[in-house]
Amino acid sequence: MTELLYLTDSYLKEFDAKVIEYQSRKLILDRTAFYPSGGGQPHDLGEIYYTKGKASIIKVYKAKESLIHEIDEDAELKRGDEVKGVIDWELRYLYMRYHTALHILSGIMYHSYRALVTGGQIYKDRARLDFDVQKFDREDLEKVEEEANRIVKEGKAVKIKFLSREEAIKLEDLIRTKVNLIPADVKSLRLVEIEGFDTQADGGTHVKNTKEVGKIKISYFINKGKHNKRIEIVLEP
Ligand SMILES: [Zn+2]
Repeated sequence: MTELLYLTDSYLKEFDAKVIEYQSRKLILDRTAFYPSGGGQPHDLGEIYYTKGKASIIKVYKAKESLIHEIDEDAELKRGDEVKGVIDWELRYLYMRYHTALHILSGIMYHSYRALVTGGQIYKDRARLDFDVQKFDREDLEKVEEEANRIVKEGKAVKIKFLSREEAIKLEDLIRTKVNLIPADVKSLRLVEIEGFDTQADGGTHVKNTKEVGKIKISYFINKGKHNKRIEIVLEP
């Protein structure tokens, strides 16, 4: 019921919205640019400005059909009030760079090693992906890092597309994101395409060109057997 503005415009830093519901520091808006925790990307932080003041957003999450903005202290807000949201752009942009970097990494791992992603998380200072992959070892890391930075330097466009479920299921590349596990009532899938390289079903926010990612460094690797390998990356500022 909340229009999710970040799904089509990840560069939106400010927006106007109306309060749908407010109760004990939990705010629901008719539209929002605040990203909720999910898909390995942390929620945004920021501020909400209203007639009588402002409040800090300390948590954003999905609960059933709603997207909840949790604020730091009780505010005089009620249904119908007009507010302005401002997201912490520095933090969000860092998450966007990391998210696109992880897609570059998982794309290389899938195309070159048939590796399947089993988990992942973005932090403020690093990000990680876990893989299920047979033939991959420490010796391969240098090649992967080199390839990742080549894709960054090539400046590939990163595009957001929406595809019907039926169309999406036919794309072989998307099988690894377990598109077949998406409930049948989901009619449209959001895809993140790194032009000429990789497409994944995804709900996160991304930079619009791989150049914006910056230099990728593989900072950590652990091999706990063929079904459990972890790669961590750090982005240089
Ligand atoms: Zn993603």
